[in-house]
Amino acid sequence: MKNSEYLLQKTEDSLISHECPILQIKELKVDFFTQKGVLHAVDEVSIRIDRGKVVGLVGESGCGKSMTALSVLRLIPSPPGKIAGGEILFDSLDLTKISYTQMCGVRGKEIAMIFQEPMTSLNPVYTVGRQVGEAVRIHGSLTKVEIRDRVIQTFDLVGIPEPYSRLKSYPHQLSGGLRQRVMIAMALICEPRLLIADEPTTALDTTIQAQIIELLLGLKDRLHTSILLITHDLGVIAEICDNVYIMYAGKIMEKADVFAIFDKPSHPYTQGLLKSIPGMTEKQKQKRLYSIKGSVPNLLHIPKGCRFHPRCERVMEICQKEEPTFFDLGDGHHVRCWLYQNKGKPNEEHIG
Ligand code: SF4
Repeated sequence: MKNSEYLLQKTEDSLISHECPILQIKELKVDFFTQKGVLHAVDEVSIRIDRGKVVGLVGESGCGKSMTALSVLRLIPSPPGKIAGGEILFDSLDLTKISYTQMCGVRGKEIAMIFQEPMTSLNPVYTVGRQVGEAVRIHGSLTKVEIRDRVIQTFDLVGIPEPYSRLKSYPHQLSGGLRQRVMIAMALICEPRLLIADEPTTALDTTIQAQIIELLLGLKDRLHTSILLITHDLGVIAEICDNVYIMYAGKIMEKADVFAIFDKPSHPYTQGLLKSIPGMTEKQKQKRLYSIKGSVPNLLHIPKGCRFHPRCERVMEICQKEEPTFFDLGDGHHVRCWLYQNKGKPNEEHIG
């Protein structure tokens, strides 16, 4: 049975309703087996993405965001990495359990990823036209001319000027903004149902960032693609996301809709991230910019109790001894912090 037939059958079998999320990560664990010990890069992470929605995954570098994304496509470098537990349900198909061949049918066609740095993610010795057309060549049965036309259409869709003449360009001949658009074209050419964008605007200047965000929003509306957006930039989150997960040292610390995250940030880490955004007024600009003291812990030596406690300004005695569970603040707002033990309902269940 071909991959595409297998997926079609699974999709029909699963009797998908529109209520069913397109992706549900449940208590995912990713471990790395190093000479110094086992590193828990992703620790019981649960995330839910509904159809046509944009979900943001936010945190500092080294918090496990990219590892969570790479696990969805089973791209964790193995060894030393391994998915050590949990489920990744894509339309109720558990991606952690399917074979390598079945997974190849999902990658690029059903779920695509825009990687962090276009210059290092594109192959310098092939033209961008060839690289973008590769996914269609692998997953479809189109002729050479049809593939070329499809690439031109996709270049046009993502706003690459003179798409025909760009087909034969090499990555180094394009600007940073155009290279990022090529990466987006590569991810979108098979019209995936889920797009994972890992820091898609990090290496770009502000005007190009705004254009890429607008492009992603336009594509979401036109193709009804669901998006998992990974970033440390809360400004990007505010522009584009419906729901937000805040991640710290391998764990989700807060989850809420985008309005609650900005209006009522509850976890001290989320509050710290928001305070670190530069202000726009003259008075704010003159003030010294806030920064959360310390840095993300080495994941081989995660602090006991709340893993954020060495950096937290509101640390209490219990924080140093016991790991907090999630407290439910209502309306889908969950926070992993002892400050809320008398305000929210404890929630031991996964929050995805
Ligand atoms: Fe701070 Fe304690 Fe809350 Fe952790 S549990 S974020 S240390 S107040």
